[in-house]
Amino acid sequence: MSTEIKSTLFEGAGARLEAAAAVAEVSEDTLERLRLPQSVLKVSVPLRMDDGSLQTFPGYRVRYDGTRGPTKGGIRFHPRVNVDEVQSLAFFMTFKCACLDLPFGGAKGGITVHSKELSLAEKERLSRNYITKIADVIGPDTDIPAPDMYTDQMVMGWMVDEYSIIRRAQSPAAVTGKPLSLGGSLGRDTATADGAFHVLRTLAPKLAEVADQDEAELRTVAIQGFGNAGAQMAKLVADAGYTVVAASDSTRAVYAEDGLDVARLRERKHADGELPADAGDELGPEELLELDVDLLVPAALEDVITPDNASRVRARVVLEVANGPIAVEADRTLEDNGVTVIPDILANAGGVTVSYFEWAQNRSGVPWSADEVAGRLERKMVEQTEVVWDCARERDVTLRTAAYVIGLERISEAVNATGSVEQFRNGR
Ligand code: NAD
Repeated sequence: MSTEIKSTLFEGAGARLEAAAAVAEVSEDTLERLRLPQSVLKVSVPLRMDDGSLQTFPGYRVRYDGTRGPTKGGIRFHPRVNVDEVQSLAFFMTFKCACLDLPFGGAKGGITVHSKELSLAEKERLSRNYITKIADVIGPDTDIPAPDMYTDQMVMGWMVDEYSIIRRAQSPAAVTGKPLSLGGSLGRDTATADGAFHVLRTLAPKLAEVADQDEAELRTVAIQGFGNAGAQMAKLVADAGYTVVAASDSTRAVYAEDGLDVARLRERKHADGELPADAGDELGPEELLELDVDLLVPAALEDVITPDNASRVRARVVLEVANGPIAVEADRTLEDNGVTVIPDILANAGGVTVSYFEWAQNRSGVPWSADEVAGRLERKMVEQTEVVWDCARERDVTLRTAAYVIGLERISEAVNATGSVEQFRNGR
């Protein structure tokens, strides 16, 4: 990766690109183009606080690569947001969209802010002011924001409204993850877990076929994180007959050898905001990651499996529902220990896929039924999972490298079709 930007996260992104580039058939132009983000916008976002004082917060919007279409990516409100993180996440989005063959490039945005400390009115003003600052680079044909950590449907509603006010035209396709009443899509709330489940169900029989006979079936599951993605994932695997033996949230981790009552966990989590302490034996938060289960589903934070604990992971398969739960340096240890990793850019791409459906519905003016969204999501996820699996088998690489190879070759095809010199001239 370039020496111009020195950062662990971004260098980690570069390591994954290099692994894919070693086996992919790509032009030098493509690799050169992908060494740096296409544009990095840094803004100050002023906020009039409820007490009348003024504060300013750093905000970012990074468009990594838009060769395959308008760039797409979430907006994060978090105290740790910085340019390194945002550009790394924009890089991952570029590959996620290409891996799923969506007509989008990748982007990401964020504000460095403790949003939990803001009142609702302050959060609304901050969201609107941020859009004012980045309005020149976003739009339905250029760059389309969506929710990410600590931003939700309500925030997207404010943002799309502000963008429409600035443009003096209703522009629903400028933002996805909106409330239904403002042009959101049915099925968006469960899309990430639904997509991950389609990936799992497509790969499980294939993994069984290549595994030892007595290890053929995946039966037991541990899930880290019980939010939007994790709780829905727990429901889907439990309904499909898996035994969810452990689950955690930011308050606790619980374990039951014979299986947790997932319906009750969801109910209590919804009612109390935390997992019930009496659901099973209490585990240390790290212990969940090291359980002897068939399937481990990290669905909470980044970098939870690191070089420190990777050798203690005993799951046979790790399904990355969270973004970046495995540090780059831990990939090799897991591979050496025979742990199959189903990579985030495939596993959690159901969210961006339904965001694409939302954008398509907004552009055509025709809303789709829940069944249509679900059917299209299933077809997309199964189809692209098969492509990644075949690539991994044919080129004898991990599923992660295969997912990057598929993305990279698709980007390369687009770069070659347009000509990289022309791309730069057009500023895209
Ligand atoms: P969320 O905020 O709804 O849920 C996060 C969950 O993680 C909460 O239950 C929280 O209690 C738990 N958590 C926090 N710290 C924890 C810890 N130390 N140990 C165990 N659990 C902890 O978020 P979400 O939308 O479910 O997203 C979860 C992950 O999935 C993130 O990495 C996100 O980037 C990724 N993802 C989400 C979507 C989506 O559409 N929701 C799409 C793609 C990727």
